[in-house]
Amino acid sequence: MKFYSLQNPSYITSFKEAVVTGLAPNKGLFFPSAIPNLPDGFIDQIESYSAQEIAFQLVSPYVAEDIETDVLKRIINETLSFDLPLVPLSEKVSVLELFHGPTMAFKDIGARFMAQCLGHFYRNEDKEITVLVATSGDTGGAVANGFLKVPGVRVVILYPSGKVSPIQELQLTSLGHNINALEVDGTFDDCQQMVKSAFMDADLTARTTLTSANSINVARWLPQMIYFLLGYKQLQDKNTPWVISVPSGNFGNLCAGMLAHKMGMPCHKFIASTNVNKTVPDYLTTGFYQAKTSIQTISNAMDVGDPSNFSRILELYTSDHESLKTDLSGYWFSDNQTREAMVELQQQFGYTADPHGAVAYLGLIKYMEGYPEVQGTFLETAHPAKFKAEVDATLSMTLDLPSQLASFVGRTKVAENIASYDDFKAYMMR
Ligand SMILES: *Cc1c(COP(=O)(O)O)cnc(C)c1O
Repeated sequence: MKFYSLQNPSYITSFKEAVVTGLAPNKGLFFPSAIPNLPDGFIDQIESYSAQEIAFQLVSPYVAEDIETDVLKRIINETLSFDLPLVPLSEKVSVLELFHGPTMAFKDIGARFMAQCLGHFYRNEDKEITVLVATSGDTGGAVANGFLKVPGVRVVILYPSGKVSPIQELQLTSLGHNINALEVDGTFDDCQQMVKSAFMDADLTARTTLTSANSINVARWLPQMIYFLLGYKQLQDKNTPWVISVPSGNFGNLCAGMLAHKMGMPCHKFIASTNVNKTVPDYLTTGFYQAKTSIQTISNAMDVGDPSNFSRILELYTSDHESLKTDLSGYWFSDNQTREAMVELQQQFGYTADPHGAVAYLGLIKYMEGYPEVQGTFLETAHPAKFKAEVDATLSMTLDLPSQLASFVGRTKVAENIASYDDFKAYMMR
């Protein structure tokens, strides 16, 4: 399978090159040159396949030219080393929990898959590759964990000093080995700007092979299809139309679900659930895409005003607003509505949700009010303890830290202080 650039369809490359370079020239996202169908009868027989077999069917058509079967199977095993359970809350509503991975966020899946792919591509190179990531919290932890001890790969994470939670900071700064943390005196945008400048800095690129592990990398995007189909496999009733609500920021997650649907996964409707950063719900209403400045909310991993993966969703539907609307509805919610939903989930179902999952629940319930004949699943993208302060305050409770998070308490932080791009460059040139 080849991949082309959404900025220039005649720019065509392999899966390997798409992973290593991340983006095509002029910031073009890579998109597969064909969308294969799942084998005949696969969906009807889904319950007889293991999670690993389902993952292999979905992903192998895209990567088989660059990764041998045995290696892909090993990568899939490494990626899917934890449960992805579908938890029923009522007869019609269920939640797909994507947070049982090592950093307790759904980004573990994409980050682990990408790390294994890059490690495979660089296994015999004499020069190592450096992965640069700017993080506002969750991404850095998932990337650090996924790439830990992967041979041939060095990771440099930039995070804004004082703006990530104490546990998140230790997830970035206490791993050692090939994971390096830079504590930047500035905001997340400053960190991101430094990463962008590094890619354009001839001194640096002459000296080091640089790549980025942000969410638009095809190796983070494609494996996210897997859990949608694992959710379908776990549905008790496969005859009632199924709708899926995805809490969305950069829209990689939703776009992966829609790709799985194009390959043959049954789904009656997708729901794009957002906080007040409502660029996509507005597009669905008006047909006009208007990027906006992002607004800070309690579901902060979705504070995105110009979602980078939305161009992939448009490509899936050849930019046809009407046909996109038959598969996708969008709703947005305020922080107060999100808190009310967290309380409702707790009181009605005894279910503790994080703010992102609560936004997805709201979108699902809103859609189901109009279509009571469907059943629905919302995705829970982070463990509530990752947003402990907000969850404890909203639900008047004291959440226990699960072992994956508790194991970081008391560890030693190691981070280099960075005040300017010159500091960062000097660090990289050492
Ligand atoms: C990143 C993230 C999202 C948004 O996912 P996208 O693929 O960017 O739409 C939602 N919830 C949590 C907890 C996240 O970390």
